[in-house]
Amino acid sequence: MTGRVAVLKAYGGDFELREYPVPDPEPGAVLVRLSRAGVCGSDLHIWRGEMKEVYGALPRDLTFGHEMCGRVARLGAGVTVDSAGQPLQEGDRVAFLYFFPCGRCRVCLRDEMGSCPRKGRANRVAGTPPYFNNAYGDYYYLRPGGFLFRIPDEVSDDVATPANCALAQVIYGLTRAGVRQGDTVVVQGAGGLGLNAVAVARDMGADRVIVLDRLAARLELARAFGADHALGLADLPTPEQRIAAVMDLTGGFGADVVADFVGYPEVVPEGLKMLRSGGCYVEIGSIAPGNVFSYDATALVRGNTRLVGASNYSPWALDEALKFLRRTVGTLPFDRLVSHVFPLAHVSQAFQQADWLQRGGAGLRISRAALSMVD
Ligand SMILES: [Zn+2]
Ligand SMILES: [Zn+2]
Repeated sequence: MTGRVAVLKAYGGDFELREYPVPDPEPGAVLVRLSRAGVCGSDLHIWRGEMKEVYGALPRDLTFGHEMCGRVARLGAGVTVDSAGQPLQEGDRVAFLYFFPCGRCRVCLRDEMGSCPRKGRANRVAGTPPYFNNAYGDYYYLRPGGFLFRIPDEVSDDVATPANCALAQVIYGLTRAGVRQGDTVVVQGAGGLGLNAVAVARDMGADRVIVLDRLAARLELARAFGADHALGLADLPTPEQRIAAVMDLTGGFGADVVADFVGYPEVVPEGLKMLRSGGCYVEIGSIAPGNVFSYDATALVRGNTRLVGASNYSPWALDEALKFLRRTVGTLPFDRLVSHVFPLAHVSQAFQQADWLQRGGAGLRISRAALSMVD
């Protein structure tokens, strides 16, 4: 039996599908038949060739993708439950971490598995056994010790697909920032991550959620996800105007938490100036190397500012993400976060579409393209 893996041939260009033998899971491992994969902002960075420092000047045998879900195809010996202790059987729908905290180092032992310096990552060279190491393929081989969780019945595959990246990342970042009841939270950027952040901040008890974006369609969607104030860059073209608007909305105090989901360094000084004294700035959006910003360190001291960076997350965040989806799926328009679903055979088109969408080339249905491996 073989399965397909999508391999990128040229940055900004096409993939080809290669067939590899489907492995039997070793003890402790799980073979997942993927049903969906998402095209995330970081995947677009890789595809466009903006991560050449990491993946090389030419994409030799490069395969990637990290947002996904599927059904258990084969359980390795000894695997009887998921990471939350629920019984696990072949055919169960599952979401899982795409990175591998060691669980034994000093950082992991301090309950910071998301920051594990020894965490394992996916092998991105196509043809490396066990072959199915990334999201753009028919299968995923979850290595022994990988964290996985059953997807609640109420949550569709489309809604569950970004849970292991965007949603878990947001929950982890906002939790580390200490968002609590009564807070005012500013969300910079209403893309996939930012929209999730609006909903999660609300769910965590934020009294007021303010979102900033350049696209009217995204602002409208941010309101649908629970934003109280959606500020457009067309109305507030300068950073000074946007800072003043946040100050106005917070009675001159500033926000308790400001979080960047834009990924351009210019927004960081602007966001820092929107904070109240003692507030927390959360940096999640910057993922391509070289996002340098400049800011007066004395202002950080005088402002008693806390800074939180968040890359990857501790496994509990994915468990919480799936529970969050179960309790909000009927009330929030998650279906509008996935704009187009392509079969795996059309993965190149999916990337072109996602690239166009990210540049703002869509009407009301914004955001992400996804791949289907089952129809
Ligand atoms: Zn992602
Ligand atoms: Zn560790």
